Amino acid sequence: MSTNTPITVAHGDGIGPEIMEATLHILKEAGARLDIETIEIGEKVYLRGNSSGIEPSAIESLRRTKVFLKAPITTPQGGGFKSLNVTTRKMLGLYANIRPCVAYHPYVDTLHPKMDVVIVRENEEDTYAGIEHRQSQDVYQCLKLMSRPGCERIVRYAFEYAVRNNRKKVTCFTKDNIMKLTDGLFHKVFDEIAPEYPQIENEHWIVDIGAAKLADTPEIFDVIVMPNLYGDILSDVAAQIAGSVGLAGSANIGVKYAMFEAIHGSAPRRAGQNLANPSGLLLGSVMMLVHIGQADIAERVHNAWLRTLEEGIHTYDVYTEGISTQKVGTKEFAQAVAANVGKEPEKLKIVRYSNGAMQDLTDRVSHYVPEVKEQVGVDIFINIVPESTEAFGTALSKVAIDGVKLVMLSNRGVKVWPNGFPDTLTCDTWRCRFMSSVTENGPVTHAQVIAQLQALLDAGYDFVKYESLCTFNGRADFSLGQGQ
Ligand code: NAD
Repeated sequence: MSTNTPITVAHGDGIGPEIMEATLHILKEAGARLDIETIEIGEKVYLRGNSSGIEPSAIESLRRTKVFLKAPITTPQGGGFKSLNVTTRKMLGLYANIRPCVAYHPYVDTLHPKMDVVIVRENEEDTYAGIEHRQSQDVYQCLKLMSRPGCERIVRYAFEYAVRNNRKKVTCFTKDNIMKLTDGLFHKVFDEIAPEYPQIENEHWIVDIGAAKLADTPEIFDVIVMPNLYGDILSDVAAQIAGSVGLAGSANIGVKYAMFEAIHGSAPRRAGQNLANPSGLLLGSVMMLVHIGQADIAERVHNAWLRTLEEGIHTYDVYTEGISTQKVGTKEFAQAVAANVGKEPEKLKIVRYSNGAMQDLTDRVSHYVPEVKEQVGVDIFINIVPESTEAFGTALSKVAIDGVKLVMLSNRGVKVWPNGFPDTLTCDTWRCRFMSSVTENGPVTHAQVIAQLQALLDAGYDFVKYESLCTFNGRADFSLGQGQ
């Protein structure tokens, strides 16, 4: 006899409660073995003065069950409210975001009838680390952070997902022609891990042309893995061109926890009218069933839903004259799917799942080979509006301490000194690169960096930060100024 799996459920805001009720009704009718703990999150919690949108007691429930089925929530307008989605992802370490984007031609209108793409998006790193600063009156920065373990686990997740879900190919999108170190790492890790999966075809595309191809001929892709920002944007594009963002579900997987949801928001204008399409959340819950080892129920739910689409029973958002047979509300749609439990689609592809197909894989980490790191210089960022670039470069050169020399000034990433281009726009933060004056790429110690900062302070310069320039096993892993 099988036992129930405890899960945490949040009904959310706007259309959330209606689509959650519809989803839970279908799950129950399909025989899902669940013990549900209900928590409150979102607008009401925010407006009670909790800026995170979630109470400690709700977090306790998540800690207990480790599985979260979440309806969309409304983030109140105005400052001070943190995105609960970002908070939950980070708090629970949900590093992988999986979004299947499938066309249901001819039952749902699409330009891409053969589309069947799964986007695997890295969910924690990249520019989403949320480390932003204003450096000066002119300049704002956002740090793009990528780590080797972070890249390894998302890339491995994509390949394992492909194997466990009978996929044929994994494509990687990056912009490593420009971001040679961060996106370069993602691509490099992809190239390292791909040969471990000889049965899966692999390829890499630069994200701009990759995105254009995805929008134009999505049928050439299968699983696509990408860093956080590209994945955020392109998974919405992919879901929309498959038919509708309203049809796509999303899984967020971590080492201990997992969260499942629709990709759309709380659509407040549609709330309380029995109009909303519950399909996105339902397909999120299908991935949840696979994750908790109820692949049998996941199949029953998914196939019943496909059958209902095929029968032309559609909510307003996918209803098309001539294709649809009945326009129904949220409740009636759920009842139709529930009544189809046990049936399979006749034309659309029948879905088969196996347990473990969504699982996290952090037990498989690559070998950690220690590298020899040596500091060979420092970029000191100085806030100044100088009389001229040339005068600033000359004056700053004279402040270099013994054993160190100023080798370059760059502004907005472009080398402007020595031998800059007079027409380059400059603003009030300058990257000033100091390196050894003794030997090329010779060591520059922390004590020298401190002495250099002190010398700058004594000379009246306002520095906003410094970054170490390091070699790893003798390889200089820092970018040159553009034009250097
Ligand atoms: P939205 O996705 O909520 O709605 C945009 C439009 O899409 C709606 O007006 C509606 O026409 C349509 N739509 C969306 N889901 C539908 C469904 N299930 N059935 C039928 N039609 C549907 O986006 P928005 O209006 O930009 O955001 C509304 C709120 O949702 C905001 O507060 C936003 O912060 C929040 N949001 C939450 C999540 C989440 O909780 N995961 C995600 C995105 C947005």
